[in-house]
Amino acid sequence: MNEKIVKIRKPRQCHGCLEKYPVGTKMEHGVHFGEGTAYSVYFCLECVDMIKIIPRDFFQDGIFEGDITEWVLYEFGVRE
Ligand SMILES: [Zn+2]
Repeated sequence: MNEKIVKIRKPRQCHGCLEKYPVGTKMEHGVHFGEGTAYSVYFCLECVDMIKIIPRDFFQDGIFEGDITEWVLYEFGVRE
């Protein structure tokens, strides 16, 4: 993976929490490889911080859409 922080030029959805962010928001852009193809994903900075503290084995199969929210709910028992 190779990630960098960018200011988005189009509205983007965070891959981790599925929140939508407006133009000009700083997000981490990364290119992921899977299933024979490369695709780009965006994470909001809150999810980037979460990813740093989430145990690696939680993401054995990679990070799927909404996974960060799932983990936060699981770890902190937050209820909407
Ligand atoms: Zn997020």
